[in-house]
Amino acid sequence: MRVIAVLLVVVGGLAALGFARHEERVREQDQLGAIASDLAGRKVGVRCPSFVASLVDTRGEAGSVQFDDAGRPANHTDLSPQTCKLLRDLDSVDFSCIGRGDCGFTQFAAGWAAHTLAHEAFHLRGFQDEGVTECYALQNTAFVAERLGVPTQQAQNLQAWLYKRGYPNEPTEYQSPQCYDGGPLDLRPQQTRFP
Ligand SMILES: [Zn+2]
Repeated sequence: MRVIAVLLVVVGGLAALGFARHEERVREQDQLGAIASDLAGRKVGVRCPSFVASLVDTRGEAGSVQFDDAGRPANHTDLSPQTCKLLRDLDSVDFSCIGRGDCGFTQFAAGWAAHTLAHEAFHLRGFQDEGVTECYALQNTAFVAERLGVPTQQAQNLQAWLYKRGYPNEPTEYQSPQCYDGGPLDLRPQQTRFP
């Protein structure tokens, strides 16, 4: 009997923990969904894998959006466990090192997660071409970072830094020859600052 009682307490505890985690994930997805919706121009969802699902995640993709045969995007994006975790902790990353020029991979990976959310949001907006999607994402990474708690100036510096350090190293299909200041994909042509 004693064993059963102990077992019940353990199971109850695990269930409570699972519920708390679930609640947290729902809240997180709602917050990310609101940001993605603003960039997509319509109501879209963001899915972060559950703890169990994250243990078996093998796709290795930072994020993805499905398109149907007619080229229409789904209404949600699936983010990797790692991207979700980095976005969750983004407000605790200090990006002031960008100004000093001594940032490391930690800051880069965290910033790249913000860029990933922007990228998937532009797929959800209807852009399937990786080069076009990426160019728009690079111009909206600061928007995402700021919404997740990064101070305005640091978010701007982050956006410029990722464009300078991350973009040139991407696969060619992600690089558009039209992605430059004043170019066809410049979302703020009246500004001289790019992205
Ligand atoms: Zn893409």
